[in-house]
Amino acid sequence: MLLSSLPRVPFAFTPTPLERAPRLSAALGGPRILIKRDDQTGLALGGNKARKLEFWLGEAISQGADAVITTGGVGSNHARMTAAAARRVGITPVLILSGQRSPLPQGNLLLDGLLGADIRYIEDDSDEAAAQAMAAAAAALREAGHRPYIIPGGGSGATGDAGYVAAFLEFLQQTIDQQLRVDRILVATGSCGTQAGLALGAKLTHAGLQVLGISVSRPADAVRQRVAAIATDCARSRLGVDLALTEAEVDVTDDYIGPGYGVPTEAGLAAMRLAAATEGLILDPVYTGKCLAGLIDLVRRGEIGKSETVVFWHTGGAPGIFAHAEALAGQTT
Ligand SMILES: *Cc1c(COP(=O)(O)O)cnc(C)c1O
Repeated sequence: MLLSSLPRVPFAFTPTPLERAPRLSAALGGPRILIKRDDQTGLALGGNKARKLEFWLGEAISQGADAVITTGGVGSNHARMTAAAARRVGITPVLILSGQRSPLPQGNLLLDGLLGADIRYIEDDSDEAAAQAMAAAAAALREAGHRPYIIPGGGSGATGDAGYVAAFLEFLQQTIDQQLRVDRILVATGSCGTQAGLALGAKLTHAGLQVLGISVSRPADAVRQRVAAIATDCARSRLGVDLALTEAEVDVTDDYIGPGYGVPTEAGLAAMRLAAATEGLILDPVYTGKCLAGLIDLVRRGEIGKSETVVFWHTGGAPGIFAHAEALAGQTT
């Protein structure tokens, strides 16, 4: 496997802790729960995108880039962390952002401004519109003599996925050191790269555990398709391994999305309160709160057994909670 020969910038504080959560486990009445603290990767308040950006910025620099362009919603954790990663290596971050913004920037958008990102807003939040806007921004930069590099939304693609294959190997070592037998990993899935990297890592190492994605935006079929495509592309084009991850091998549920991406659910907010009350742990309403809501419900329904060992992969997102103050304070949902 060629993982160690890919260009990489060491942004993330790793290994992130793999912590026990005894009070949360007891509150759920059974399964032993551990938390993989990728909220603590350290890059501009942390989160899962740091691991992907190590490889994206590595590739950008190796191609001589002096600007990076990426996209997301106004509350995007990926956009915030890309801006920070670009600053860390001395190149300009350009962010194409969509969605409703309040008059006073909050959460990630506030931090994008602090990081001095060149922010351009688009009205249409479709993937096509974002891709077009990024291509147009790149063309304009090239025209002006710059060397822009485009990172796809969420940092999901073969290059960034290497970061989550590496994360899985790191996790596997921790389970060996701590003499743990893990039955499954639960992770919040949006643009699919994190789940793809973990699932690919699990397959490459014959780890014999389930990587279950809790979708926060896409229908399950779309997730299966994307995860399989990203993982297979990463294996073949980056890791030099002739292996395919099939759609049938991708485990995902879309039962916990609620009204839609970025819209808090009652179950997600309740899960956030439970994590805070039992473990002093901060989750977010867009990703990790919905993921824990899924874990709680799957235990309640008996689909996750009481004697299992389950890893809740904490992907971050806390900087975004301040943009959801009304929902969190119970004023609206
Ligand atoms: C982006 C993100 C995810 C989802 O990761 P994908 O690789 O996009 O599926 C989960 N949690 C948080 C906090 C994120 O920012």
